[in-house]
Amino acid sequence: MHHTHKPPFIEELTAITGQDPSQCYQCGKCSAGCPVREFTDEAPNRVVRYVQLGFYEKALTSKTLWLCAGCQTCSSRCPKDFHLAHFMDAMRELALKKGMVEDEKNTVEFHKAFLKQIESYGRTHEVGMVRDYKLHTMDLMKDVDLAPTMFLKGKLSILPHKVKDTKTIKKIFKQK
Ligand code: SF4
Ligand code: SF4
Repeated sequence: MHHTHKPPFIEELTAITGQDPSQCYQCGKCSAGCPVREFTDEAPNRVVRYVQLGFYEKALTSKTLWLCAGCQTCSSRCPKDFHLAHFMDAMRELALKKGMVEDEKNTVEFHKAFLKQIESYGRTHEVGMVRDYKLHTMDLMKDVDLAPTMFLKGKLSILPHKVKDTKTIKKIFKQK
């Protein structure tokens, strides 16, 4: 019998997540419910698609990875039981490991500040997030080029209207 080998990247990803990305059939249900979809450059399921197609670099450098709040809404909606939140987490890990994160320190700090905002308030608002971010980096001059483009477009202000269920979000974070 002919033996098919998976690409090394898929092996690596599968080893972390315990699930093969080919499981996803691109229905888009995950992204439709994703609270940060409004200001990601690419829908979460598109990142999975890139991996399926072998565009690993495109997937690993997607800003969507760092905007993902790990809320698990996607995972709970998936008709194929694909744990997209876990996939995102593994992709962040691999992106760091492979040195694929541009401006690594700032990106990671951005991610942390973003999560902290969501955890504290059940939502994110621009002023709080920028303040938090600056405290972490202490590098005010870099504000312009550090943030994902949506930051500059002011799209962050969308989130408070999208994420209103503070109790549920607090519960999600407690389960971590
Ligand atoms: S809901 Fe599941 S199967 Fe559908 S696109 Fe998202 S991850 Fe893929
Ligand atoms: S875990 Fe990430 S990708 Fe999934 S719905 Fe939440 S923010 Fe979106």
